[in-house]
Amino acid sequence: MSGPIEPTDEACANEPVPDIEVREGRRTDVGGVGIARVLPTKGRRTIGAWCFVDLMTPDDLDEPMPLEIGPHPHIGLQTVTWLFSGAAVHGDSLGTEQLIRPGQLNLMTSGHGIAHAEDGRARERIGENVGGVAGAQLWIALPEETRHGASRFQHLDELPIAELPSGEASVMIGGYGHVRSGAVVDTPLVGLDATFEVSTTVETDPSFEYGVVPLDRSLKVHDTVVEPGSIALVPQGQSELPVDVDGGRARMLVLGGEPLGEPIQMWWNFVARNKEEITDAWRAWQGHDLDRFASVPSDLPRIDAPRPPWVPSGE
Ligand code: MN
Repeated sequence: MSGPIEPTDEACANEPVPDIEVREGRRTDVGGVGIARVLPTKGRRTIGAWCFVDLMTPDDLDEPMPLEIGPHPHIGLQTVTWLFSGAAVHGDSLGTEQLIRPGQLNLMTSGHGIAHAEDGRARERIGENVGGVAGAQLWIALPEETRHGASRFQHLDELPIAELPSGEASVMIGGYGHVRSGAVVDTPLVGLDATFEVSTTVETDPSFEYGVVPLDRSLKVHDTVVEPGSIALVPQGQSELPVDVDGGRARMLVLGGEPLGEPIQMWWNFVARNKEEITDAWRAWQGHDLDRFASVPSDLPRIDAPRPPWVPSGE
């Protein structure tokens, strides 16, 4: 799935978070599916190497739109696709065609360049009516050592489950206790989809910074209230994170990692270190450079990149 970054996201340079702070997400639209973007946000570009969190939460859950995102490019990142409902076929320039359903994980590593499409049209691609899609689309910034490397794709058919007090967590990325995901990432990271009743405690690594994203109910992280559609930013130095919900059962994403330590620049679907790298990728995509972005097995229309605001018109 795609999550085009807008030029305004340049205002999201990392600022220190001395205590738990809540940031409201922004409502936007990707490929006809309404989303809440909770990262990047004001004063916060990355959590560990996590650099982008979109929640696809259709306004009309009875008739959500199927996902129809045509071929588009990425550089410098990994995309993590995690569905709550529906299904989609991932197609990419490595030749991959992979159906994904809730409970499964797609991890696409762009390295120097990859292109992909996400197609949730039930009849044409999946052969059954799976309804519309809801889920999370997450990006992980690649570190300097691997961001120019080869692209790859990994599908995990099921994820390991870790026990929590009063609940459990699917371990999408990294590890929790002795439970480890098979997903291959290049920096110390964790990504959990946790459900619990009333009150739980998430063990955390003091060297990691974290974000807690409520998916269905308002939560209390320590004493800070965070609503669905928002994110609680948690600074380094915690060894556990108490989370409460006011009765009943709640679901949340817990994302963490060692601070990336490299300032990144994000524009549209590109994660880079400077404008020149973004301009090069933009030219390669708009110029149909098949060495960098090979063709994608998809009959959805290709998505053109907008002109970066720093590139003079006429180029
Ligand atoms: Mn994408």
